Amino acid sequence: EEFDFIDYFHSVIDRFEMSKPEGIRFVRHLQNASAYVNIDKDKITQVIDNIISNAMKYSPEGGTITCRCWIQSKKLRVSISDEGVGIPKANISRIFERFYRVDRARTRQLGGTGLGLAIAKDMIHAHGGDIWAESEWGKGTTIYFTLPFRNASEADYR
Ligand code: ATP
Ligand code: MG
Repeated sequence: EEFDFIDYFHSVIDRFEMSKPEGIRFVRHLQNASAYVNIDKDKITQVIDNIISNAMKYSPEGGTITCRCWIQSKKLRVSISDEGVGIPKANISRIFERFYRVDRARTRQLGGTGLGLAIAKDMIHAHGGDIWAESEWGKGTTIYFTLPFRNASEADYR
């Protein structure tokens, strides 16, 4: 299914903004120009829902969640940043593993299975994209992913 990722991403964030806890604020830096992608909408929704849910779940003091989307090196790039607990450097590479959770005691209270990011990785890879994380313990986390997109073709301007 082909659709404009920018429109779509706004609607996903709108949905979170309607039910977010009071202490959380969303900021958007999404490019204005449309970016058409041909991907499974239900699956990418599962991916983004998990990343934003993580950002809220692991931000116990609230804070800003910044969503970005832009085109770089002919790929659509998305990032979602939070100001939460962060991930120790040594563990960052492992968070995309099945059932991996950084702090067992804490994450047991917060619920979840440790599958969200493993599913996200499979889905992004299946679409020819990449996904990775940057984080500073105690300061926050950013999850990045890329997706191939269709350039506006001449046909669009006829
Ligand atoms: P599930 O998504 O299955 O409900 P989960 O959220 O624990 O459970 P993942 O989404 O796969 O599982 O995340 C794996 C682990 O990575 C989490 O348990 C948490 O320790 C860490 N993590 C993920 N996102 C963040 C974040 N934004 N800030 C801090 N830690 C994070
Ligand atoms: Mg999760």
